[in-house]
Amino acid sequence: MSSRLGSTPMMKYISTRGNAPELTFEDVLLTGLASDGGLYVPKEAPHYTLEEIESWRDLPYTELAHKIVYPFVEGCVDADALKGMLEDVYNNTNFGHKAIAPLQQLDNNEYVLELFHGPTLAFKDFALQLLGRLLDYVVTRRKEKVVIMGATSGDTGSAAIEGTKACDNVDIFILHPYGKVSEVQRRQMTTVEGDNIYNIAIEGNFDEAQDMVKASFGDQSFLRGERKLVAVNSINWARIMAQIVYYFYSSLNLGGPVRPMAYSVPTGNFGDIFAGYMARKMGLPIEQLIIATNNNDVLHRLMSKNQYEVRSLKHTITPSMDIAVSSNFERLLFDLYDRDGARLAGLMAKMNARDDVVSLDEDKLAKARELFDSLAVDEQTTVETMQLVYNETGYLLDPHTAIGVKAARECRRNPNIPMITLGTAHPVKFEDAVGRAGYEMPELPHHLTDLMEREERLTVLPSDLETVQQFIADNTFRD
Ligand SMILES: *Cc1c(COP(=O)(O)O)cnc(C)c1O
Repeated sequence: MSSRLGSTPMMKYISTRGNAPELTFEDVLLTGLASDGGLYVPKEAPHYTLEEIESWRDLPYTELAHKIVYPFVEGCVDADALKGMLEDVYNNTNFGHKAIAPLQQLDNNEYVLELFHGPTLAFKDFALQLLGRLLDYVVTRRKEKVVIMGATSGDTGSAAIEGTKACDNVDIFILHPYGKVSEVQRRQMTTVEGDNIYNIAIEGNFDEAQDMVKASFGDQSFLRGERKLVAVNSINWARIMAQIVYYFYSSLNLGGPVRPMAYSVPTGNFGDIFAGYMARKMGLPIEQLIIATNNNDVLHRLMSKNQYEVRSLKHTITPSMDIAVSSNFERLLFDLYDRDGARLAGLMAKMNARDDVVSLDEDKLAKARELFDSLAVDEQTTVETMQLVYNETGYLLDPHTAIGVKAARECRRNPNIPMITLGTAHPVKFEDAVGRAGYEMPELPHHLTDLMEREERLTVLPSDLETVQQFIADNTFRD
């Protein structure tokens, strides 16, 4: 990467199903799903030598982020503009901890990487804070305006709203099921100030809200052709890109890259752990990646038994990992199947048909197992792990992170390699689990102490597509 000849290299992105146009970063940012149904990945990821990585050892988070992110956006985003965005995102007023992603030690060679010091107290802030600024930069330059529409049952909505509040040319409409989101989570969405933010509480359940979002993406005519809808869910490449940074950061802080690391990742949609896979591909020595799931264990069944079978969603005390299908897993499959898009398209068609149990080719699965292990952790074990770690250290884990720690301890291959569990959320967001473990709710972190007093803004609407679309159109054309 360090020496380049000729014209500016602009990274190209290709679809995992091999039948959609190659795009630049800018188009990938605005596109979401590829036209052939696949997901976009870099055509060629940058690769760094150990010496290059070593030379980044003392960089603060923001500067390291610039090293990692810039090659993915080069040619679309100016280097100085990116620097400004990163400084705006990863600083001590936005993140409540100066180290941005600090490490907490649990035991000898065992750590939690705290990714919950951002404005909404979950790791999604790392990506969505940057995504909002990148979107605004790109659409402003194109003299366009876009509308973000999404449905949430918790974390993603608040992180997306916080990430877009300062955008001039992005309006955001987030639907949540009325009365079915915890108070902290609701307040994290409804107390954000900004006249481009609309919280819609739907008199219905999450699935109804999600269906209205899907229908709106499918037929955007209610926007009368003057605006485009943009998705900010975890299939958006820009989110993965931003998450690669903290793998490098944590490794460098624990003596990498000379020393390899192992990571355990509380997993739902496979976005966060795929960022770890990317870090390894870019040259960071990672010995092991552990897929830690709750009882929504479609990936664990595949990894352990080579049986891919989609089951209906179960609601658990770790709601941010409640998924039936892990969309980003397709990005890994693409590499396992030697980037053969046509073959992958066939495999995905079988996997998505859901009428049969699908198996991977044994050699492909064997390749995945060289790096990945997996474990599914039930609710009782999750709560017991919160108690165990509290008794050992006085440190209260959020339930998602507890699943990661349990899997780290069960699946660890080499005790001499530092094991880092990604701490994906702050426990204050998950009252049910904290209560079940028998603890008082922790205090809100210092940058959020007045959350319960802040003024809320939301609009309650019936679960009716036309009403919701009318509301969006009316508020989008206000200027
Ligand atoms: C989103 C989320 C996860 C799952 O991350 P994926 O990238 O979807 O695998 C885990 N824990 C928390 C707290 C989350 O918000």
